[in-house]
Amino acid sequence: MAQNSFAGTKKLEGKVAIITGGASGIGEATARLFSIHGAKVVIADIQDEKGRIVNKSIGPNNSSYVHCDVTKEEEVKSMVEFTVQTYGKLHIMFSNAGILRKPDEDPPVLDLNLSETDLIWSVNARGMAACVKHAAKAMVELGVKGSIVCTGSTAAVSGGIGWWTGYHMSKHAVLGLMRCASKQLGKHGIRVNCVSPSVVATPLTCEALEESAEEIEKLFQTGTNLKEVVLKAEDVAEAVLFLASDDSGFITGHNLMVDGGRCS
Ligand code: NAD
Repeated sequence: MAQNSFAGTKKLEGKVAIITGGASGIGEATARLFSIHGAKVVIADIQDEKGRIVNKSIGPNNSSYVHCDVTKEEEVKSMVEFTVQTYGKLHIMFSNAGILRKPDEDPPVLDLNLSETDLIWSVNARGMAACVKHAAKAMVELGVKGSIVCTGSTAAVSGGIGWWTGYHMSKHAVLGLMRCASKQLGKHGIRVNCVSPSVVATPLTCEALEESAEEIEKLFQTGTNLKEVVLKAEDVAEAVLFLASDDSGFITGHNLMVDGGRCS
């Protein structure tokens, strides 16, 4: 699908946003869209070269790159501190960094490899929690009525038939985190929501399935109710923009499915 929502109205003018996993895929598309909508964007990732390229192409006046491994709480704290020191505020946290292992590395329950499960959890669930925690603390301290968006997945609302058990578990945990945080942070005016895409051809899915982007799109197009529509990272970015902006000012604790009706 992938069209750009910019029609002359900047929805994030004056806002400061952090995007974890911003060097690639959904995070990169969101960083670009947020910038078009007037936000100052901090791209945080462990892929430094890719992150710096995205930063350069968005423009150093409108974005920064910081190395941040979300499994390390100290790095998450420093990323938030860097953002506040550089831009004075923090209005939006898009906690998006995630990993997907190859099917045989994240197998069905009977063959579960618990060290792989730990690895998946350390990024997808624990890392997500660290980002929500430190962004929320900064927003409360600054008196900012911010918006936190976490990337869930269709894997957050259903079980996996054949594999990716740890991934499904970790994404269910993201929903639990989002629901607790939305209830606890509402009194500070902070909204917390999830965006939950179905399959998008990004390096995450292409590398896990060892398929080209074209093949991934062909394989998973059948999983939607919408005729001849292919989900792109830019479509997910549009949903994140909605949740991050004042357009969704009364929405919190919500899991916005971007799945073409697949899970409905
Ligand atoms: P991607 O691989 O293109 O991007 C993920 C980014 O996260 C990468 O740049 C990677 O370097 C970064 N990352 C990984 N581990 C990190 C860590 N420890 N600290 C900081 N950054 C780290 O993949 P994507 O598809 O854009 O995935 C983004 C999010 O979307 C993930 O949470 C993923 O689970 C979720 N998701 C993806 C799909 C899909 O089909 N692509 C579907 C549903 C949900």
